[in-house]
Amino acid sequence: MTSVVSGVASVAATHPTWMEIDTEAVAANLAEIRRRARPGVKVIASVKANAYGHGIIPVARALETAGVEMLATGSFSEAKAVRAAGVSTPIVMLAGSLPEGITELVDAAFMPTVYDRGGAEAAAKAAGSSPAKVFIKVDCGMGRLGVSLADAPGLVDHIASLDGVDVEGIYTHLSFKDAGGMAYARERLDLFYGVLRELRARGHDIPVTQALASSALMVGWQDDCNAICPGHVLYGMPSVVSGLAPLQGFKPVLGAVKSRVIDITNHDDALIGRGAYHGDRKERRTVVVPCGLNDGNRSAVDGETAEVLFKGRRLKVLGGSLEHLVIEVPSDVEIAIGDTVTIVGGAGDRRIDIAEYARWQGGTSIACMLSLSARMPVIPRDREQSD
Ligand SMILES: *Cc1c(COP(=O)(O)O)cnc(C)c1O
Repeated sequence: MTSVVSGVASVAATHPTWMEIDTEAVAANLAEIRRRARPGVKVIASVKANAYGHGIIPVARALETAGVEMLATGSFSEAKAVRAAGVSTPIVMLAGSLPEGITELVDAAFMPTVYDRGGAEAAAKAAGSSPAKVFIKVDCGMGRLGVSLADAPGLVDHIASLDGVDVEGIYTHLSFKDAGGMAYARERLDLFYGVLRELRARGHDIPVTQALASSALMVGWQDDCNAICPGHVLYGMPSVVSGLAPLQGFKPVLGAVKSRVIDITNHDDALIGRGAYHGDRKERRTVVVPCGLNDGNRSAVDGETAEVLFKGRRLKVLGGSLEHLVIEVPSDVEIAIGDTVTIVGGAGDRRIDIAEYARWQGGTSIACMLSLSARMPVIPRDREQSD
């Protein structure tokens, strides 16, 4: 998992490549979500997938400090790492285990998601002196995971009949990507409310109910449930809903991805071939930074050219390899061994954001975040630190 280091000074000179994240932006985005949600709504912060590739430990710490009610992840190892880091906020385990794995989740006092009798019975069996708390997941039409709308009331009845397990929450996921998906999600939300009404009619009083995630928050929905589970918006990531204007009021939690120059070459053109990195080269000088595929940094796809920022200017990337990036440097730019190059980040109109970086690679922002943070240290950035 990601290593978290305390400052740029502690990035190893043996491999000076790192990611900086802005934990104050996490708190600011949580506050913005609360402003948009109905008053009193609980926030279950989605920190799955290593906090969407931002480093789960600093993100979870920032969320706890900011008073988030719950965290959600599907990864047992990440949930354990959060606890080991001293974060005590309750953790909902999004599904990810076999029924026999639920014992370990319950032993660690995490709240597993169940969607069938096998999971519920495993949780009941694993319970110690107090009942295991579980969340029920209902599939409202995403077609991925969850008990069906029709079978949900029967499952809750069954769980209520078991000793050693309590239903703490019930949720569904209504993610949508465009206007058509939004209309469909709205319909399905009404069906989910129908299940909640049916459960109340059967005498089940489930403390936490949740249906809305980033897509819904981005289009301004509020709902009848008492909790929401935002992911993308919490990180200020680009909208997952196509055709929407970028959301105002949210800040990117990704500060920057940076690397330092380890070599500078003034090429004697007579001596080098015109293949590989040098086919498109216009300048005599190139530099190398140690940030290649092994650091999660993929090469640009055909037809795209990656760039990096240096002293506020965009420099062209000639090519990437397993461990290195070769960058062309115009003659009027002063650059020295050890200088820092910004691969993602910067400020204002001099910024390479993760969406632009992902476009060069023909990928998505989230996939790029996951591959970068998995392979380099993550540093929570101080406010004073500049680009
Ligand atoms: C990931 C996830 C969310 C958060 O989704 P975003 O679109 O990132 O806001 C909410 N609920 C469930 C069940 C999830 O798995």
